[in-house]
Amino acid sequence: MERRVGEFELIRRLAGRVGTAGSASPVRVGIGDDAAVTSHRGLTATSVDAIVEGIHFRRDWSSPDRIAARALAVALSDLAAMAAEPGEAYVTLGVPPESDPGFLELLADGLADAADTHEVVLAGGDTVASPALFLAVTVVGYAPEDEQFLMRSGASAGDLVGVTGILGGAAAGLMLLESGGEIKPPGPAVRDALISRQLDPEPRIEAGRALRGSGVTALIDLSDGLAPDLGHVAASSGVAIELEASLVPVQTGVAAVAASAGADPLRLAIAGGEDYELAMTFPSGRRPAIEHALEAAGSGLTVVGEVVPGAGVRLTLDGSPLPLPAGFDHLN
Ligand code: ADP
Ligand code: MG
Repeated sequence: MERRVGEFELIRRLAGRVGTAGSASPVRVGIGDDAAVTSHRGLTATSVDAIVEGIHFRRDWSSPDRIAARALAVALSDLAAMAAEPGEAYVTLGVPPESDPGFLELLADGLADAADTHEVVLAGGDTVASPALFLAVTVVGYAPEDEQFLMRSGASAGDLVGVTGILGGAAAGLMLLESGGEIKPPGPAVRDALISRQLDPEPRIEAGRALRGSGVTALIDLSDGLAPDLGHVAASSGVAIELEASLVPVQTGVAAVAASAGADPLRLAIAGGEDYELAMTFPSGRRPAIEHALEAAGSGLTVVGEVVPGAGVRLTLDGSPLPLPAGFDHLN
């Protein structure tokens, strides 16, 4: 039966999929009234991320449920980077009038599934007609008890610089997708892992949570790339960061993709974005405790550099100065 999924049908589907918030949730009134009602003790952290078809995602690369899950994951990564507890999410959907009902149903289901996975309540949003499909996601997180959020601004000279996980996979995955088969994949399993790193990012909420009260002095998520994002930490903290290239953990297959594309593998690892791992600074004495906390959260810590007096990010290779990859000279 041919039918058009209108605004009301889409909202009904979303509302039907969103369970009533548990007692720990800040949401008192969710989808279905004129406004959401929440109750947060203390401070909240709010972050907004929007993605537009053709600019940030392509329907031929990803299914609607994965597109929706990615939109929520990327927004939640900013809460992880504050060490915040996810509370509620609001999603504005821009829907082209001729959209396929099945596509929109999958999009709504992907959104609801991802909200369940990350234990965030979809508390409201808006649905509008738009010439291009877009999703604009607002997430609100909170700091339980009197614990503070972790900002970008607390790094001081002498601190170590660490990162969770392995890097470069999302950028290599994007290169594989964009090349349309031109770049020789390093084997199907490695190829799938790289592409999944691009299409299915995992917000490091558990890792961020584990870092509360750990002695971490500055925290950021890796959306732009390790060097540029550490540049944000350096600028906010009024320090310089020395990044040792040989220490950066690189995902399997990144070097092979770079070689096949004639690209610099180091560029993918330190300046390729969208890995959504966490980077942090901390006094060296806190290292064992932070390693332990991150391991318990299913993550790991790799120390990749140190905080020094000055400004910007400096790259070294085995201790010798190395120019930043092209395009990132402005960080110096
Ligand atoms: P109004 O016309 O008062 O703005 P809407 O019809 O836009 O109301 O929304 C009705 C309810 O559905 C509201 O609770 C709103 O938050 C929710 N809603 C609408 N669109 C979305 C969406 N894309 N995701 C989640 N909730 C939505
Ligand atoms: Mg509305």
